[in-house]
Amino acid sequence: MSRAVGTVAFTTTIPVEVIIAAGYRPVDLNNVFVSSPDAPLLVERAEMSGFPRSCCAWIKGIFESFRRGRDTLPIDVFVAVTEGDCSNAKVLKELIDLERGVKSYLFPFPQDRSPDAMRSEIEKFAAFLGTTVAAAEKVRHDLRPLRRSLERLDDLSWRHPGLVKGVENHRMLVSASDFNGDPVAFRADVERLVAEKETILKSGGYPNNLKPLAYLGVPPIFDLYSFLEEKGAVVVFNEIQREFAMPGEFPDLTAQYLAYSYPYSAEYRFSKAIKELRRRKVAGIIHYVQSFCHRQIEDIILRRMAVEANLDIPIITIEGDKPQKELDGRQRTRLEAFIETL
Ligand code: SF4
Repeated sequence: MSRAVGTVAFTTTIPVEVIIAAGYRPVDLNNVFVSSPDAPLLVERAEMSGFPRSCCAWIKGIFESFRRGRDTLPIDVFVAVTEGDCSNAKVLKELIDLERGVKSYLFPFPQDRSPDAMRSEIEKFAAFLGTTVAAAEKVRHDLRPLRRSLERLDDLSWRHPGLVKGVENHRMLVSASDFNGDPVAFRADVERLVAEKETILKSGGYPNNLKPLAYLGVPPIFDLYSFLEEKGAVVVFNEIQREFAMPGEFPDLTAQYLAYSYPYSAEYRFSKAIKELRRRKVAGIIHYVQSFCHRQIEDIILRRMAVEANLDIPIITIEGDKPQKELDGRQRTRLEAFIETL
């Protein structure tokens, strides 16, 4: 892969292969925001700029991360996903257009999951960035070893609960949306972690009595993994983060981005997740919902689908609002009681 000559920043996972093929560095603004040591300050700044209290903290964090990144990265293109992600992203794009000086683009995931429509969206995106689908397919091929290593890490996570920490699985898979801006360096990091875990597996030196849990929902705005491990449980399935890693073999980009469940219906997403919950034999499910997010309503769909599928796995719904260093008292008490009942 050639060296990047500019930066494309975006609001959620998009066909990153197109960005790399066009010679840009991919940057997922969610990752920039949540990994920032002053993430709470970014939310506050957005509120001071006029964002309402009753708006999701991710949107505020993305906006302020864009403003900061425009000067430091700098950002050449901003891409928002509307169809398949967040209705807030549409107005966020308009707001960012007012900031001037950065080209912007709306990428829609076709909600009928039609191959023709998906192919056409990828073609349009490639043309916008000045590249071709053929070049992006070549990048897809080059990224396969990296995606396979992520799949291996994820596999180790559930086949040997406790070997891979929940937060390690989360961090690596969630970073697959932009490969931390550098796929070559990121691949080396993933391979190093996999090798380390395979060595530990041989020695048996890891806690092997933790209760295996699933984490469903958008990635958390705070770290809940360490607390779970303190209380005797470990997350062995990070649903959406795993989707970002796009495990599996696909004939082309169209098939890969149609199999990716996050932007499509809750029913499609959860039916895919239910297969993994069964395969991984999890003892409990944490459904994380973000305050002021339309996806909170999907909790009803998840619970209905779990009953219809005779899943018989306890579910706890945990709501997060702003970035925080530690879980609050209520979240801790509820999670602790949940783990005890498993
Ligand atoms: S958590 Fe929900 S409201 Fe917030 S950015 Fe994501 S999809 Fe939008």
